[in-house]
Amino acid sequence: ALADRLSRLVKTMRGQARITETNVQEMLREVRMALLEADVALPVVRDFIARVKDKALGQEVVGSLTPGQALVGIVHKELAATMGELDDKGQLKPGASDINLHTQPPAVILMAGLQGAGKTTTTAKLAKHLIEKRKKKVLTVSGDVYRPAAIEQLKTVTKQAGAEWFPSTPDQKPQDIALAALDHARRHYFDVLLVDTAGRLAIDEALMAEIRDLHAAVKPVETLFVVDAMQGQDAINTAKAFKEALPLTGVVLTKLDGDSRGGAALSVRAITGVPIKFAGVSEKIDGLEAFDAERHAGRVLGMGDIVALVEEVTKGVDLESAKAMAEKLKSGDAFTLDDFLLQLQQMKKMGGLSSLVDKLPTQIAAKAGAGEMERAEKDMRRMTGIIHSMTLQERRKPDIIKATRKKRIAKGAGVQVQDVNRLLNQFEQMRDMMKKMKGGGLFKMMKKLGG
Ligand code: GDP
Ligand code: MG
Repeated sequence: ALADRLSRLVKTMRGQARITETNVQEMLREVRMALLEADVALPVVRDFIARVKDKALGQEVVGSLTPGQALVGIVHKELAATMGELDDKGQLKPGASDINLHTQPPAVILMAGLQGAGKTTTTAKLAKHLIEKRKKKVLTVSGDVYRPAAIEQLKTVTKQAGAEWFPSTPDQKPQDIALAALDHARRHYFDVLLVDTAGRLAIDEALMAEIRDLHAAVKPVETLFVVDAMQGQDAINTAKAFKEALPLTGVVLTKLDGDSRGGAALSVRAITGVPIKFAGVSEKIDGLEAFDAERHAGRVLGMGDIVALVEEVTKGVDLESAKAMAEKLKSGDAFTLDDFLLQLQQMKKMGGLSSLVDKLPTQIAAKAGAGEMERAEKDMRRMTGIIHSMTLQERRKPDIIKATRKKRIAKGAGVQVQDVNRLLNQFEQMRDMMKKMKGGGLFKMMKKLGG
């Protein structure tokens, strides 16, 4: 069984002083899983694993560390280096890159990204940051002429930020709006002009052409790609499209207060090649933080996974979250899609441990063969993608999901509506089973399975 295999592995590695080709393979497989679960795109994961392997092989294991612990250290460091900025010596620079204002004022900052990514919110957050931390005089303007509500939204949040807002109307061309705002900013000695742009629901050629023209007209010193951390696997395609359309200078990763593991950071950094400058951590105007690659590396790996990698690898299952889930069920809280996702991940970790897993209504119950594992991984990614395409409310109350939303969710996750239906059916089956197990039983079951 998987647990036995891993337990043997850790025991063998304990007696070894070096990270070797054989012992590194198994550990890297775990790292790979952790990254895929964190929604890092597959090609990025492959590259990353290859780099870690290079660095790890032959490395002496110092002091009381096991090779497993040493490897986690290397993984963590490499993750931070991949998402952060390096100095001339290849060392991770402490702190994040702030907004570049090295230009003749007014410095223009152009916001780009999909609809709902958080552009308008981030525009106001940045205005506040530039006013308070950099003592700048800031003007905002909206080029989102397709939705009058979007212009109003920017007006409201700009006020909250304490910045000034330049009016625009839906009958104007975005370039004309931006140029008028720039002229106003020059004549009234603003230091910064933030240009918010229209939302794109998906990569849309006409809108891409529009933002390219806008860029050519206002010549921004910063072109920021705003991306939703919950976008998961899709972030890679979005990042590619925006990088091809625009000379990006930085990234803002929003909604990191959500429950995503933020693997998008790794994919987006790899694709765009520009620094992740800020992280959005709340809907509120002060919910903006400098992006911290070191800290984010821990999040992507997941606390649970670090523990799992270093010590609890033999258990194959995260007892803490099993216990938390049991408590939740006992207290009568509803079983949500997020819990379902967690359960799937747990089950995948348990692998083919038990016949019980086979009885569960999911193809995630992986059998021993490598082909099966690959398939299980793919299923897992697809299901994670579907769940991440839902709103937080839908995840909590899947019963509210109607046909039109199913279509949208399927589109967002790049799957068929049938796939969404299948997942919802499986969720329902598991919810019924959970009710029967009454919490305490579940914890005991997992504990038993975990050894
Ligand atoms: P836009 O279409 O790109 O302009 O996106 P908006 O700025 O209108 O944001 C879309 C939704 O995401 C809004 O409900 C925001 O309140 C929310 N949002 C934006 N940034 C964050 C964030 O960092 N955390 C959370 N929780 N919500 C955010
Ligand atoms: Mg907007």
